[in-house]
Amino acid sequence: MVYLDQQLSGWGRYPTSRAFVARPERQNEAADLLNQPEWSGRGLIPRGSGLAYGDAAINAGGCVVSMKQLDRFLAFDPKAGTIRCEAGVILGDILRVSVPQGWFLAVTPGTGRATVGGCLACDVHGKNHHRVGSFSQNVLNATILTGNGEVLECGPDQNSELFYATAGGMGLAGVVLDVTLQLRPIESVYVLARNIVTRNLEDTFRQIEATDAATYSVAWLDGVSKGSLLGRGVVMLGEHAAVADLDRRHREDPLAMNAMTARSLPFGLPSGVLCRPLACAFNEMIYRKYAAAKDPTVLVDAQKYFYPLDALDNWNLLYGKRGFLEYQVVLPPAGALDAVKQMIDLLHRAGEASFFTSIKRMGVQAEGYLSFPKPGFAFSFDVANGEKVASLLADCDEITASFGGRVYLAKDARLSPEKFSVMYPRHNEWREVAARYDVSGVFASDMSRRLGLTR
Ligand SMILES: Cc1cc2nc3c(=O)[nH]c(=O)nc-3n(C[C@H](O)[C@H](O)[C@H](O)COP(=O)(O)OP(=O)(O)OC[C@H]3O[C@@H](n4cnc5c(N)ncnc54)[C@H](O)[C@@H]3O)c2cc1C
Repeated sequence: MVYLDQQLSGWGRYPTSRAFVARPERQNEAADLLNQPEWSGRGLIPRGSGLAYGDAAINAGGCVVSMKQLDRFLAFDPKAGTIRCEAGVILGDILRVSVPQGWFLAVTPGTGRATVGGCLACDVHGKNHHRVGSFSQNVLNATILTGNGEVLECGPDQNSELFYATAGGMGLAGVVLDVTLQLRPIESVYVLARNIVTRNLEDTFRQIEATDAATYSVAWLDGVSKGSLLGRGVVMLGEHAAVADLDRRHREDPLAMNAMTARSLPFGLPSGVLCRPLACAFNEMIYRKYAAAKDPTVLVDAQKYFYPLDALDNWNLLYGKRGFLEYQVVLPPAGALDAVKQMIDLLHRAGEASFFTSIKRMGVQAEGYLSFPKPGFAFSFDVANGEKVASLLADCDEITASFGGRVYLAKDARLSPEKFSVMYPRHNEWREVAARYDVSGVFASDMSRRLGLTR
């Protein structure tokens, strides 16, 4: 196996570190990587598409196992709607196989470029979390390579402790080799999207609660408006369109996938100095666009509906060379509005402006010991990396913890081990199970060392 000494980061481009990158092409090659001398003491971490924002899939001085070559489809049952594929398969490629047969992903995050292995390891949630739960709750089975060198089948009914340590375990409980997913039936590739424009934060929360029955729901917030307009935005709802919902043209071939084209920003944008004016203009433009729309209900291609950000394949360059941080938390229902208001206030007082601010209703908690979702509201915003960011986000952590919430590790690059222990009360159960399947402590990442999850 060839190892490349590479500088890596997550999607936020902060932080970065150097590691030996291995690219196994077969599942047995991944197993051979467990006991190599080059990274003794620094361990090994699997990596998918590198779309977790922070330091989850980087490992300074150690090994990073890129799973992207393990991208084969292993089985598809178009009657039952189940699909088995290797961990490096990306969600968009699953849709290309399953949609023409009338099946859609039960859960998808906001990018079709994430791998199934990364999605299970982060136990990602989608716009329908309040209805169907997280990614792991729709996984029937996963094959996992443990740190002890065993290859085990696991799922909710089989080796379930390993499964729940892996789901949300950020690659630290084992390497996911392949996954079997339960898909959901659809009649068309289109989504009926309904947009409700809101006046302020109270109105946004009210509309989210009033539309709880919608299958898909997420609110985009204008992250820069203040005073009586603070928290205004658009509650975006969606339902898979039935054939009966389509006009004649769309009915002709309702399951035909449309090609998705992505554009790119030029490389080498200057530092984040442009960020604030750009973010202000961007927020104003989006809000006006929705406020001016004549018809709040529109038929949208599913890929455009679920993956709008994939249309610009390197939008993370917008924040300049120092990168950016995404802050996402889940807050219990009581006090969520208050907590969000306090955090937006902090953001404004620090002079920061977020491009993408969102609130989303969350449903039941998954069984994963370190799974992020729990009932309440997820709230997220982004900030360009800079001197003031560490203290701003530490203040947000105080608010989040005081309201009983927690930070999402897939977006994190700087949470303290103390706050992590408070926010993830099952961390000791996770440690105990993970240690049993990885006796010599093979798995490690920059995140695991920062949070005290490994040496
Ligand atoms: C535009 C955008 C939108 C997003 N929207 C959402 C959203 O709506 N909801 C949400 O929950 N998340 C969202 N995310 C986060 C993203 O979906 C997750 O971080 C996802 O896990 C990324 O997959 P990846 O293949 O890039 O994993 P990576 O970023 O490469 O890795 C993420 C973690 O998974 C582990 N991992 C990767 N592959 C394996 C494997 N085979 N076995 C074991 N562990 C593995 C890594 O070690 C790491 O800890 C979004 C990210 C972006 C960039």
